[in-house]
Amino acid sequence: MKIDLHNHSYYSDGVLSPVELIRLAKEQRCDVFALTDHDTTDGLTEAKVEANKLGIKFIPGVEVSAMWSNMTIHILGLNIDIENEALQAGLKQHQEFRAIRALKMARGLGGAGVVGAMEKTQAVAKQGMITRTHFAQMLIQEGVCKDMKSVFKRFLTGKKPGGVGGQWAQFDEVIEWIHVAGGKAVLAHPLRYRMTNTKVKRMMSDLAANGCDGVEVVTGSSNTDEIALISQWAIELDLLASSGSDYHGWPNQRVRIGRLQDMPNSNKAVWNYW
Ligand code: AMP
Ligand code: MN
Ligand code: MN
Ligand code: MN
Repeated sequence: MKIDLHNHSYYSDGVLSPVELIRLAKEQRCDVFALTDHDTTDGLTEAKVEANKLGIKFIPGVEVSAMWSNMTIHILGLNIDIENEALQAGLKQHQEFRAIRALKMARGLGGAGVVGAMEKTQAVAKQGMITRTHFAQMLIQEGVCKDMKSVFKRFLTGKKPGGVGGQWAQFDEVIEWIHVAGGKAVLAHPLRYRMTNTKVKRMMSDLAANGCDGVEVVTGSSNTDEIALISQWAIELDLLASSGSDYHGWPNQRVRIGRLQDMPNSNKAVWNYW
């Protein structure tokens, strides 16, 4: 079975529409597929309709931004009820913060000499949500930076011109939103935060103690050692294991839908619970 439980459409910072994503997932022979846009469920109904047509098992998901120890982390809500009011109220707060943050980021970039940052970034974003990915792609298109890595480092983090601190809900509150909506809460890409491995393990342990159900053991950019490490910690902490590519689809990105390494047999997979 080919399973990919982490993907983005143009309702957040992906390139493709939900329908295009499902068609691509079908081409890549995915059996189970989750759409997990940042802080929005807007694409889920369109994706579900297409998945039903093509015979893919569709898991409605969301990737929620959250604070842990003053840092931004991402918690996936998998198999959520999109009608749930508490979840939607939480996501709305995050969408409102994103709109304000975009204006602050544009102002910061303006101060660094990037003219018309807001308008140019709006032109990159196909839907209403403006993410840092859109700012990054704009700066690359404008020739200010050459790749995503350097643009985030030079412009979009910390005290850099377009850096604005996250004001997301605390992780335990986010886990609660996901649970009341009937979903499984899964820590996304544990090794992609700017933390030492010791701190990553402490975070996983703290999340587990606060009801988090699982962790992404396999992501589209994991190597064998990384998979082994998180697999082991998931077992120790009794966390379910998930697997997802984190596909966004920008031309300058290498990750593909459904091309994931195998999950170690020793882990309990989150999809066994559906
Ligand atoms: P936001 O949620 O608007 O703060 O944007 C975060 C998104 O930016 C992540 O989900 C990634 O898609 C992207 N991102 C963050 N850091 C990097 C990076 N160093 N290289 C490429 N993409 C990044
Ligand atoms: Mn993203
Ligand atoms: Mn993420
Ligand atoms: Mn993601």
